[in-house]
Amino acid sequence: MISIRHLSKSFQNPDGSVLPVLKDVNCEIGRGEVISIIGPSGTGKSTLLRAINMLEPPTGGEIWVDGENIMAKGARLDLLRQKMGMVFQGFNLFEHKTVLENIIFAPMALRHTGEEEAREEAMELLKKVGMAQKADDYPSSLSGGQKQRVAIARALAMHPEVILFDEPTSALDPTMVGEVLSVIRQLARDGMTMLIVTHEMRFARDVSTRIFFMNEGVIYEDGTPEQIFEHPVRSATKAFVNRIMKLVYEIDSDEFDFLQIHTGINRFCVKYNLTGKADLAWSTVKEMLFTHMRAYRPLTLRFTHAELSGETAMDFMVEGLTHSPLPAGNALDSLRAQVKGIVEEPTARGFRVKVLL
Ligand code: ADP
Ligand code: MG
Repeated sequence: MISIRHLSKSFQNPDGSVLPVLKDVNCEIGRGEVISIIGPSGTGKSTLLRAINMLEPPTGGEIWVDGENIMAKGARLDLLRQKMGMVFQGFNLFEHKTVLENIIFAPMALRHTGEEEAREEAMELLKKVGMAQKADDYPSSLSGGQKQRVAIARALAMHPEVILFDEPTSALDPTMVGEVLSVIRQLARDGMTMLIVTHEMRFARDVSTRIFFMNEGVIYEDGTPEQIFEHPVRSATKAFVNRIMKLVYEIDSDEFDFLQIHTGINRFCVKYNLTGKADLAWSTVKEMLFTHMRAYRPLTLRFTHAELSGETAMDFMVEGLTHSPLPAGNALDSLRAQVKGIVEEPTARGFRVKVLL
């Protein structure tokens, strides 16, 4: 359905120098495929999506859609854009129109659908994304997750052949990510062709037929979710999919600014979608630092989260220690009951207590 050959895109820097963003992108996208595009930020993922629907005219190469070269002079970009829905991070709804008006606007203006038919269809789409009750409300009264579901219904109203999603959940409060991902999952089950730029690794693994790992302006590795996530071939892919988020504190005395740890944990949990674990993480820190490991300073506290496996852990490490610092007996019973596990193990330079959250 879409064929991309030697696609390149450069931007002109303010000082006149050239910034090559897409270097040599090649891929074939078949009907019904769900492709997640992952990769570090700044590697050209958004630029690629914007090039595919010509919001950002490429510098070189070819893009074929349904057998038509869309970069050729005289290509009908209006028709092209009707085939491609686009859902952005920031919703882009019309604030002065109701939810329903947002959805019927483009079909009436561009596809010349009659108002009654457009309304009927809009209501069907709103039902599909769970927003029928809000049809007459204005976007300002909706949560971020609800706005994004309306934006998806709006894209569907144009009967697109493919939908391009650019980080559809990145601007959302973590509690609302799930409702948007489940709408996209349903579209995948319905057979919609989709290209999804996302940082949600587990979602990408579950929903996609293929994964593109973009790095440095090229599709650096592509394959099935199993190939990319379980058996990546190239080292940059491996490092990216297995990356572990870390927060580290060196606690040298009881004068340490513990509030800073509290704030740090909360921020970390919001950033990596772990808000459900924030309270447990903080109460674990307090119990370990002030009770069981009070005598051990300096101590290194490390909070980690492995995105793909979903493992979240809190390490308490003491250099030069050869035995477990934890008390014998039942002092830890209540903590043990709340966490997934407590591992006591020697390290190369000392001893570590790992609490799995
Ligand atoms: P990603 O989506 O992977 O984070 P982008 O495609 O947004 O990356 O950006 C890739 C690079 O292109 C970045 O260095 C960015 O600053 C640059 N870039 C993107 N859009 C423009 C633009 N309109 N003008 C100049 N530079 C841009
Ligand atoms: Mg981007």
